Amino acid sequence: MRAATMADAPVPKPWISDIHAYVPGKSTGKDGRVLVKLSANENPLGTSLLALAARADVASPERYPDPDSKALRAALGDLHGIDPALIVMGTGSDELLNLAAQGYAGPGDEVLYVRYGFSVYDIAARRCGAVPVVAPDADYGTDVEALLALVSEQTRVVFIANPNNPTGSYLPAGEIARLHAALPADVLLVLDQAYGEYVSPEDDDGGLALAAAHANVLVTRTFSKIYGLAGERIGWGTGHAGIIDTLNRIRGPFNISNTGQAMGLAAVADQAFVAASRAHNRAERTRFVAALAAMGNHGLRPLPSQANFVLIEFGGKLTAEAAFAGLAERGTITRWLPNQGLPHCLRITIGTAAQMDHIVSGLREMAETAK
Ligand SMILES: *Cc1c(COP(=O)(O)O)cnc(C)c1O
Repeated sequence: MRAATMADAPVPKPWISDIHAYVPGKSTGKDGRVLVKLSANENPLGTSLLALAARADVASPERYPDPDSKALRAALGDLHGIDPALIVMGTGSDELLNLAAQGYAGPGDEVLYVRYGFSVYDIAARRCGAVPVVAPDADYGTDVEALLALVSEQTRVVFIANPNNPTGSYLPAGEIARLHAALPADVLLVLDQAYGEYVSPEDDDGGLALAAAHANVLVTRTFSKIYGLAGERIGWGTGHAGIIDTLNRIRGPFNISNTGQAMGLAAVADQAFVAASRAHNRAERTRFVAALAAMGNHGLRPLPSQANFVLIEFGGKLTAEAAFAGLAERGTITRWLPNQGLPHCLRITIGTAAQMDHIVSGLREMAETAK
């Protein structure tokens, strides 16, 4: 028999031990009280009523779902003018981000993204044993030059969220095209458009067209944000046939549930809900930023956002940490991001008009009395 040793337990791979688990937005305060949740970029209008109605018609739970989500991919293809064969579904776009790294990078390879990029990229890179490489930001936003300067022989995957979370920053089509053109053809560019539907059509970053035209671009989208279906875990991606084939080989075989497929299908058909959500977000985001400006100079700087949240930099007497605690005391949970190198910032999801008014009055009160 083998002698018992100190390592008498399974030992995880060192690159797995190095991962800091994803920290989700909270919904309760320190005392366990349920708070208004503006910490996870969920849709304040809820979910399409058509999607909710579709839930009632879902096939029996003892049946496996369609492994290929055929109807849902067909509907997405129709909406976006994409061949459904070039669409892959994921259990949230999170699954696809991880599979993109796993499919194309491994130990010794590099995965590149920007400082203040989406926190899942670090996990996705480490999960497959690759080395995460982080490019400096340009005033919190994505700096194409800085990214390109770090592309090496080992670079296999580049992740860009556009709009980016948590900063809200956005690269226009010209910058995305410039980045893509300068990348070697064997480097996969993943354009994460989780907030793509919030951007007005005239500001489109051209990602879907790039994915259709080139062999090294994957665009990912989600039903978690504007479609208001975060709880159903539905994401999708599109790219060249070779990329879709790779992801299909390694995705979960029944990765979208019966309920998810039914609700997703109904949600795609309800573009009126999507348009209403976009209009609500735009109006409330504009009003929120204007109200912060009207507070006078307390050192609060909302960063320009194309998404359904605003990142506020706190440079005055009121700190982000105190504002986070004070807003929670007043009933709302926001996102303070010390673990992402942003201890001086709060990310606040755009909620209802009343919720945003409540945030502004809370911040004003705290800023005016901060010592
Ligand atoms: C919310 C978000 C996602 C979506 O994740 P799901 O797994 O689809 O819920 C992806 N990327 C970014 C940048 C996000 O903020």
